Amino acid sequence: MNLSYIINELAEDRAQYFNAIAPPIMQSSNFVFDTVDDMRKAFADEYSTFLYSRGKNPTVDILRKKLAALDGAEDCLVFNSGAAAIFAAVLVNVKAGDHIVSVEKPYTWAQKLFNEILPRFNITTTYVDGRYIENFERAILPDTKIIYLESPNSWDYAIQDLKAVAELARAENIITICDNSYCSPLYQQPYLLGIDLVLQSGTKYIGGHSDTVAGVLSGSRKMIEKIFYLEYLNIGSGIQPFNAWLLIRGLRSLPARMERITQTTYAVVEFLQQHPRIEKVLFPFSESFPQYELAKQQMKNACGLLTFVLKAENIDEIERFCESLEHILMAVSWGGHESLIIPKCSGVPKENFNPASEEHRMVRLYCGLEDASYLINDLRQAFDKM
Ligand SMILES: *Cc1c(COP(=O)(O)O)cnc(C)c1O
Repeated sequence: MNLSYIINELAEDRAQYFNAIAPPIMQSSNFVFDTVDDMRKAFADEYSTFLYSRGKNPTVDILRKKLAALDGAEDCLVFNSGAAAIFAAVLVNVKAGDHIVSVEKPYTWAQKLFNEILPRFNITTTYVDGRYIENFERAILPDTKIIYLESPNSWDYAIQDLKAVAELARAENIITICDNSYCSPLYQQPYLLGIDLVLQSGTKYIGGHSDTVAGVLSGSRKMIEKIFYLEYLNIGSGIQPFNAWLLIRGLRSLPARMERITQTTYAVVEFLQQHPRIEKVLFPFSESFPQYELAKQQMKNACGLLTFVLKAENIDEIERFCESLEHILMAVSWGGHESLIIPKCSGVPKENFNPASEEHRMVRLYCGLEDASYLINDLRQAFDKM
């Protein structure tokens, strides 16, 4: 389906709302029936009826159709957060005693689920270095129900061969789930490579303005319908109409923002790669990236997030660099208009900082919508103050 069509027209029926260009925020918890029979039909098929907004809502439905089309999937659900989408995707596919194979270092709240919540139900997780397909083959047990992927990882950009993992899993009757937040559907479509469930944090590129938390989960109609009737309705973690409307608005400018961020990211990567204060730059579309060939093969492009390793003798130099930035902000998350950094050492107790550790000297940078030169000048002056 054509990208411009999806973003500007798909699922919009303006005659239903006074020919308004922007769809209405249908801020209603419930919907009326004229006859008992209509109500009976709604109870029997809530997946296709507006009955109660914990289930379906017209504003959310417009967003769902657009997001599913962007993923190339049959359907999707939109959650109140990316973490809620992860929770639903995993929970629907396991029972007590099952086993999960996950890529190592997935998103923090996926790790919490695997390490702290699921073990209460005797569900165990084996983490593997997902860069090598044989690691998945070796980790599969008779009770393995899910292979959980995140490609690229949002700190070191480690990539899995999505097509190969999907084929392996399908042969063993295992469900594959992939966190696609880094790429967004514009730069990677895991569903079309054979992945069963694709999720992304809508907080990042889809929202795009650092004002909404949301999550997207796409897959086959059959799988999405199953999740709708179980986890989605039961946990009640669906997105609210106003937030769905903000995401529809975010979608209007998604391709333009991604294009701009991509150009800026390449300029910033080039600047960083030649700066004497930089030991190494990690970015999946750099020719020096160890999995560059695979990245080129399964991703259309890369942008936004990159990680660099500072040459620093002590933690004070790193802290001085971060605190000297005048425009780039220090904050979690990414995908918005504003450029951000997170120094890895902010998660390390100060007395444990080890200057010999490459990881401790890592800084993750997100390039937002500012001018490339504005960001580069800010980085340059902060390097000078280290
Ligand atoms: C932010 C993020 C999530 C979680 O999304 P929330 O909307 O914050 O709940 C999941 N995966 C990755 C890679 C993320 O960056």
